Amino acid sequence: MNQSRECIECKQIINIGYELCQICFDLKSKEKKYGRCIECKQINMGENWCQICNSKRFQQEFNNWTSGNNDVDKFIKNIQLSAKNYYQLLEWIPYERFYKIVYVAEGGFGKVYRANWKDGYISHWDTNKHQWRRHSQNRNDFVALKSLDNSQNVKLEFLNEITLHIKVIEDKLSNNIIRCYGITQDPNTKDYMMVMKYAKLGSLRNVLVERRKRLHKDKKKLYKMNNFNLDLYFWKWRYKVRILECIAAGLYKIHRKGLIHRDLHIGNIVCFRETTCITDMGLCKPANYNELENNIYGVLAYVAPEILRGQNYTQASDIYSFGIIMYEIISELSPYHDVAHDPYLAGMICKGLRPKFNIEVPPLILHLIKSCLDANPSDRPTAKLLSNKFQLWLEDLNKYIKNIEDQVESIKVEFIKQIEEAEKINNSSSASNLTNKLHPEAIYTSRLLNFNNLPEQKNSDDYYKNYHNISSIEYSDLHRKLINEAPEFSWSSNENVSS
Ligand SMILES: [Zn+2]
Ligand SMILES: [Zn+2]
Repeated sequence: MNQSRECIECKQIINIGYELCQICFDLKSKEKKYGRCIECKQINMGENWCQICNSKRFQQEFNNWTSGNNDVDKFIKNIQLSAKNYYQLLEWIPYERFYKIVYVAEGGFGKVYRANWKDGYISHWDTNKHQWRRHSQNRNDFVALKSLDNSQNVKLEFLNEITLHIKVIEDKLSNNIIRCYGITQDPNTKDYMMVMKYAKLGSLRNVLVERRKRLHKDKKKLYKMNNFNLDLYFWKWRYKVRILECIAAGLYKIHRKGLIHRDLHIGNIVCFRETTCITDMGLCKPANYNELENNIYGVLAYVAPEILRGQNYTQASDIYSFGIIMYEIISELSPYHDVAHDPYLAGMICKGLRPKFNIEVPPLILHLIKSCLDANPSDRPTAKLLSNKFQLWLEDLNKYIKNIEDQVESIKVEFIKQIEEAEKINNSSSASNLTNKLHPEAIYTSRLLNFNNLPEQKNSDDYYKNYHNISSIEYSDLHRKLINEAPEFSWSSNENVSS
């Protein structure tokens, strides 16, 4: 039997059941969505974006600017020629186009500044004025300037990081990966800098710390109110599920492109009022990338046990990091905040130790965290599954909260019932506390983590039978002291300096 036919547009042979080949189908849907260019009549590739006309326009300007470095020039030019929408565009931005440049923070790899950009990013070609139309900036619109250490020589990593940003951002909706507008150069240090969207609320770590302080105050108030208001808890859960939904969606976008982030933790997730974005893709590499050096670089608490033991990064090791982030957002505690982040902790994690909840958590949430933190990488869920799950839970919460606001009685789905049950228990027990006093050796910045002699990774024996916490393995300080006297696992060298 004949299982194929011709594409009605290009006559290419395709599978039966379809009218168009994939290429023609994509073009048709682009035409429907973006229309045709009024100048050359070709199909627009993005909103107000004719790739053919725009790449000619950029080409005509190639002689009007230079970064002073051939590689950087070539890199930017290529991206300008291949941009299919303004989101994928990159510009050389002279440093004098920025003003009010303020130092913000030292990142894992370099410094971050906040600045105002006089021009704003290009949104489309203005056919009446015959010039680029830019997104108008006001005093409160900031960009982040991120330098990479030793980028004068334009290390490959610098350009790699930018390429990845552009590769992952496919359209306007990809707003869970931070936008990169271009490259500039500090005239004094000669360091190249990435020009990026500035996250007003800072990193997720800052947001959680601020929230903890506020909750501490509010909690006293809540006690005074004397009656337990369950509706408030649903707001809290919506807030948390929304953040997790954004991170899972961003991670899915990275994984869908065959990439691995490799350094996912709350310090390189940034928050805006409307969304949460993954950033710091400097270590992000294709899944088939051959690891030349065996250095592990990261934050111990977020690194999967198999990676601590020197195995190669996989997408499943990113999922483990996501599991820790999930724990952190739900528990409002930093993972392993009360112990030293040393080789002993690394060894305990391999033996099945996981962070502990001191509150009751809905079983659906607890089970998902457990599967992300499973010692066996192949038993962890995919980013796609996580993203879908959080979307559904967010819908459940939105629906339920809307019904509360409209004072409509609604049927409670399982997720809502579980939140209610858990919060009733938490409210009646005084056990839950929000103290997050950090051990002086609990370190949450990325550093080299090379260990010797770590044991084979495993789950606690009752891992999936225990419904109250992630793992039943206890951290014992006494044991640590014994180990320290006769070190079983250790740093492999003296490189364990925090950066
Ligand atoms: Zn076709
Ligand atoms: Zn055109």
